[in-house]
Amino acid sequence: MIQYTCDQCGRVISGQRYAIQIEIRRVSDTEAQLTTADLDQDNLQQIADEISLMDSTVEFKLPEPITKSVKLDLCTGCTRRFEKDPLSRDTHKRFNISPN
Ligand SMILES: [Zn+2]
Repeated sequence: MIQYTCDQCGRVISGQRYAIQIEIRRVSDTEAQLTTADLDQDNLQQIADEISLMDSTVEFKLPEPITKSVKLDLCTGCTRRFEKDPLSRDTHKRFNISPN
């Protein structure tokens, strides 16, 4: 039998298990500002130029993937807390209070 542990509190999930999927997406402002003038450019020539640049670049690196997803398994208690405060901002505030 597969045992799941809560990704938040680390305890074995004995009751209901909740799966949370977070999508991280890089937002590019230049994509949003694409105009018809951009579309009128000779894209084939531009792509050919880029490909020839790639051939001559030895250490060519692919850009980071635009979308990443994070999957979490949470117990009921942690799911309730996550629903109320996904970024744990309340928790961080409490820990940042000076004891003086
Ligand atoms: Zn938990």
